[in-house]
Amino acid sequence: MSRTAKHLTFFVTFMGIAALTAIGLWKCLGEDPMLVRDTRTRDAVMGTVAETTVVVRADQSHLIDKAHTAAARAMRDVEARMSVHFDHSELAALNAAPAGQFVPLSSETLDLLRRSRELTQRTDGAFDPTAKPLLDLWRHAAEDGRVPTDEEIRLAQEAVGWEHFDLSPQDGPGVVKYNDSAQIDLGGIAKGHAADKAVKAIRHVGCRGGLINIGGDMRTFGQSTTGQWVIGVQDPFRPDSPEPLLRLGFNDAAVCTSGHYHRYFEIDGTRYSHIIDPETGWPVDVAASVTVVAEDSATADAWSTALSVLGTAGLPLAESQDALEALVVVGNEHDHRLYMTTGFNAFIIDSQDNHSDERTIAAEWRRPPTIGTVTP
Ligand code: AMP
Ligand code: MG
Repeated sequence: MSRTAKHLTFFVTFMGIAALTAIGLWKCLGEDPMLVRDTRTRDAVMGTVAETTVVVRADQSHLIDKAHTAAARAMRDVEARMSVHFDHSELAALNAAPAGQFVPLSSETLDLLRRSRELTQRTDGAFDPTAKPLLDLWRHAAEDGRVPTDEEIRLAQEAVGWEHFDLSPQDGPGVVKYNDSAQIDLGGIAKGHAADKAVKAIRHVGCRGGLINIGGDMRTFGQSTTGQWVIGVQDPFRPDSPEPLLRLGFNDAAVCTSGHYHRYFEIDGTRYSHIIDPETGWPVDVAASVTVVAEDSATADAWSTALSVLGTAGLPLAESQDALEALVVVGNEHDHRLYMTTGFNAFIIDSQDNHSDERTIAAEWRRPPTIGTVTP
């Protein structure tokens, strides 16, 4: 499919939903008696909680167990291959290898590394899994209760970059490092990839629809029992509140949110994000949360990390990508603003603005001035 055609399909699907929503039809649809849905939660999947919802035809309830097993297996498989925390993962072997040693990798892991390298280029270096030496430096410094020195940051940065890796070595499918200290952390894309793989697995089993949510990285497909899938974007200032910041509606889409309200570390009473800007070598502080909608979850995941680095300044770049929409929330609890790409609005079916809330929500449905020059 051509880029334009692809973009158009994405756009038309969501415009269709928006129109349906506008006339309030979805609320009247109710539960479809021909379909049943079943949700199960698993702890400790890729360091977070995974929730799987499967939808099957009412006369095919025997598929439910099979689908959950297939989804769990898909997630576990990604974790076993790509986790930096499992000593025996493919990625751990790559990270432990000295320069010059050929490290064989499965085509799945190699494909994700190549995709990641392309995403590093697309995001102007903001999403960069080779930043692991920097991530480790900050983690160790935090354990010692101190901020790394400029010299330590500079040294770690020297080992960051895809130029330290040969992803197409002569020996076959695998990687050769050029630098002993070079390492990769796929934490910014692996959850998304796992959600994509789990959706593929439940689709293969014969489900009519499904939703995979791995710690805020979500992928939906097909039908929910009420028509479209409705997803709440967590309020970054009240993460434990049952009331989401926004409700979004989808059929087939991926939605990922990055925010440092859940995952952060503390040094001397100051909170630092778990996302590092590879250019400055420092944890990011430009957005309260970032939500990205894309066709697949790996893409949405990587861009949510990238836009956490770039903040609203990255919205023109996001705007220029096919089939990618983004929301960046900036500010604080008392005064925050929502910035989004042109197409994001089409997904919104409900926002806190619609409720009388005691808080002053300065949500502005406008884009920042920097993005005004971009032609949608
Ligand atoms: P997410 O969970 O999608 O917000 O991604 C955050 C995770 O990605 C972190 O826990 C790190 O493992 C990794 N990470 C942090 N900074 C970056 C970066 N600039 N590029 C790629 N991955 C990163
Ligand atoms: Mg991410």
